[in-house]
Amino acid sequence: KKIIIAVDGFSSCGKSTFAREVAARIGYIFIDTGAMYRAVTLLGLRRGAIGPDGVDEKALTDLLSEADISFRFNPGRGASDIYLDGENVESRIRGIEVSNSVSRVSSIGAVREKLVHLQQQMGKQKGVVMDGRDIGTVVFPNAELKIFMTADPAIRAQRRYAELTGKGEQVTLEEVMQNLLERDHADQTRAISPLRKADDAIVLDNSFMTIGEELEWALELIGK
Ligand code: C5P
Repeated sequence: KKIIIAVDGFSSCGKSTFAREVAARIGYIFIDTGAMYRAVTLLGLRRGAIGPDGVDEKALTDLLSEADISFRFNPGRGASDIYLDGENVESRIRGIEVSNSVSRVSSIGAVREKLVHLQQQMGKQKGVVMDGRDIGTVVFPNAELKIFMTADPAIRAQRRYAELTGKGEQVTLEEVMQNLLERDHADQTRAISPLRKADDAIVLDNSFMTIGEELEWALELIGK
């Protein structure tokens, strides 16, 4: 029987890598919900609804009602890339500019309502591993398996820094650390759907684990 696996947790814990690998191993679909909030943020930045003075919620919500956000499988990556109005924006959404604004976008009720609805539609097919912040608490409170990921903040910052500089992005470790701590704080304290561990979620602290060890742990849990 195919189930829904909800993966939630802090920023830069390796949730997406973990969720993608688990999905690949058991033949499930992987859905990165953070990419959806990032795509909405990119849309707002490009179209002027997000500027130096903050987010124009009305303008952003209007833009979103017309926007098309979807995923298409990329065989080269073994995962789905996110598309915004037909354009593959998978790598565009990972930069520091989007990262610095995404928390403000994800705290807007109308944005969450729309994206949660889309995520629930995507989950109807079952056999889904979905990662985010509110999957086990809000999107699929009845998910058969819930995993809550965490890791030491210094280790998370180091991993994220290596990833960004590896892609040629000009950032410092301090900037990355600050962005990560700010996002954790914003995610945990926002009024709507704050990040928290679902009561029935199992904690995975991967500070000192390799992805191989994480997978072994997960497959045992799933019974494969
Ligand atoms: O997972 P990722 O770091 O790409 O997510 C980017 C941001 O999107 C998070 O910092 C969080 O504010 C928001 N998010 C959310 N709910 C989700 C997934 C992401 O609020 N389910």
